Amino acid sequence: MSSAYKLPETKIATGVQQSPQLHHAAASVVMRATGLMKSYRKGKVEIPVLNGVDFEVREGEFQAIVGTSGSGKSTLLHLLATLDQPDDGQIFFEGNRIDNLPAKSRDILRNRYIGIVFQFYHLLPELSALENVLMPLMIRYGFTKYMLRRRKNRQRAKELLDKMGLSHRLKHRPRELSGGEMQRVAIARALIADPQLLLADEPTGNLDRQAGDEIMEILRDLNREQGLTVVMVTHDETIAEQADRTIHLVEGRVQTM
Ligand code: ADP
Ligand code: MG
Repeated sequence: MSSAYKLPETKIATGVQQSPQLHHAAASVVMRATGLMKSYRKGKVEIPVLNGVDFEVREGEFQAIVGTSGSGKSTLLHLLATLDQPDDGQIFFEGNRIDNLPAKSRDILRNRYIGIVFQFYHLLPELSALENVLMPLMIRYGFTKYMLRRRKNRQRAKELLDKMGLSHRLKHRPRELSGGEMQRVAIARALIADPQLLLADEPTGNLDRQAGDEIMEILRDLNREQGLTVVMVTHDETIAEQADRTIHLVEGRVQTM
């Protein structure tokens, strides 16, 4: 795969190794968005969702975006993840504009630099937990190159699953796992490339209280101990309280309270 999306080598080499105690105000901006507009069209009806959203997340920060159901949280997260494109406005990642990149470059960005976790996990049902975690590396390297580094990759994936408390579930398929376990596999998959940023869309939204708490603990540890920058959307204020900073999405705009 060509490296149509380029970042400074130092960033690529160091991955997620920022100091956990970063002072956020002094830390660099990982992602910034200005004036994001998005509406959906259903036949002749236009449904406005985002109406000029400004957003910024700094290195080492754990930020929550809170809004009621239907307020546009997933829409916003999908734009930030370059899974969809805004009608207007701009998104920058590590200082580079990303919202208008060609699809292939956006694929590379998501494959290597931005990890994403979804409410419903989006695991591949036919693959084991281990294979699901390895999938981004298979996509990145292609068959031949992947096979050359197979051992190393598998070792890294096993380490991540072990950190998620799943070393006894490597060969399980998603349907043989609980919701909390599936989400932990999805987090390991999001981390396999050592991303600069983790985006999470209601990561506890489909889980009971205990499994949800476990997922939040994992996300907080990743942030505090490894300095991973995390942006999480949720409708749940008590979940959002665990973040460093919360912004609210109301009527298509960000309200800072
Ligand atoms: P949230 O994640 O906060 O619950 P969403 O971003 O999923 O909200 O949706 C915001 C609004 O946009 C909702 O009113 C929803 O019905 C509408 N919407 C979302 N996706 C689409 C789509 N693909 N087509 C049309 N309307 C959509
Ligand atoms: Mg949503």
